[in-house]
Parts: sequence; C-alpha cells; structure tokens
Amino acid sequence: MSAIAGNLQAVLVRIADACRHSGRPPDSVRLLAVSKTWPLDCVLAAATAGQRAFGENYVQEGTAKAVATRDRDLEWHFIGPLQSNKTRTVAEHFAWVHSIDRLKIAERLAAQRPAELPPLQVCVQVNVSGEASKSGCRPDEATALCRAVAALPHLRLRGLMAIPEPSDDVAAQRAPFRHLRELAEEMRAAGLAIDTLSMGMSHDLEAAVAEGATIVRIGTAIFGERQAQTP
Ligand SMILES: *Cc1c(COP(=O)(O)O)cnc(C)c1O
Repeated sequence: MSAIAGNLQAVLVRIADACRHSGRPPDSVRLLAVSKTWPLDCVLAAATAGQRAFGENYVQEGTAKAVATRDRDLEWHFIGPLQSNKTRTVAEHFAWVHSIDRLKIAERLAAQRPAELPPLQVCVQVNVSGEASKSGCRPDEATALCRAVAALPHLRLRGLMAIPEPSDDVAAQRAPFRHLRELAEEMRAAGLAIDTLSMGMSHDLEAAVAEGATIVRIGTAIFGERQAQTP
C-alpha cells in the first residue's frame, strides 16, 4: 500500500469515528482530497486507492490536473480565491466551486459554464472568523448572496463553505462551524434548498463533523506537508 493510500485510509477512519461520535451515518460526510501543490502522481495514487473528489486552490494547476485526468472518473472542486479574469477556465473544467464570495464571480461562472456540461455545483464562502485577511462574504450578506446565486442559470447552489481561523482547542474550533451550520439552517427555513456544509480540514475535521459538515477538505493528512506554494 502506498503512503498516500495508508493516509487516505486513516482519514476515512477519522471521518467514520467522528460520524459515529455524533450519531451521524458514516456516508453523510464526503472526503474532498486537497491536492494543491502536489504533483499529478499523488492524485493518481489517491485515485488508485479509491478517492474520487479532488480540491485545488490555483486555477492553472487545478486545470492542468483536471485535463490530465479527463479519462478517469474524477470530480474536480475549485476551493481557492477566484479572480474574475480566471472564471472561464474554472467554469469549463471543474464540477464544483466552493469559494463564491461575491455575485459578480457567480454571474461570470453562470455565463461561462458550457451548456453541454451539468450545472456547476457551487457553495458560498462565508467569513465566520471575522478577520480582514480571509476571504468570504460577511455572514449578514450571505442569505442575499445565496438567493441571487440560486437564481442564476447553469449553476446549482449547494450550500456554504468556511475556512475558520485555526485553533488547537476543540471548543474554539467548533464555534465558527456551528455559526456556519446555523446560518445554513436559517437559509433553509427561509426556503433556500441547500444541502452542503463544506468545512473542516486536516486539523479540525472532528469539530466540523460534530457541527454538521457534509464535505471535509483534507490536504496535509493525505498528502503530507505541502511543497512550496504555487503562485
Ligand atoms: C489547503 C486547503 C485545505 C486543506 O488543508 P489541510 O490543512 O492541508 O488539510 C482545505 N481547504 C482549503 C480552502 C485549502 O486552501
């Protein structure tokens, strides 16, 4: 078994344990393997071990991997900051975008999604930690943005995404995840059909699953410490 296959197995066990701990069915959480900065070989090793969904932060790098694996049954998720001049490539090569933080980006993706592809599955990224450095819309803007995104053609609004400030304390980890879940519950009560909470990374997936994550985005625990960042 390759190191990546072993790591992947260990992460799936962590997810299953976290689900059991919260009384959730083990198949209620999907694993997104975040392969940013790792070469294609690492993606192929994970794919051979059974992993299907992969996340990328950088448009060029992610597109190259999506193109190189076109003949395999993989699903590519864009999870990084997205500039408006890069939306076309993402609309053409990815199945999901987790990082919608303003309407303009969603409108461009909707206009550029090729009609022959299924709708682009999207999440609105919300800044639940409140620091200026992180992307995501403000929590008080999220419902209006979700409504506007849900009305666009060629996109399907699936839910919310967050990248909270890292913490070693589980209670502190859970607070922003709970905030995101409560926001999603308010939106559902207001009639928005959303089913996805994209939250939890290598160091805090248990806290995220406890608060209702449906997709956890895991890089380091599968592929190891990241190589130098690609620009
Ligand atoms: C890198 C990254 C991840 C994975 O983080 P790890 O700590 O390596 O598991 C998840 N989500 C986003 C948006 C990322 O940029």
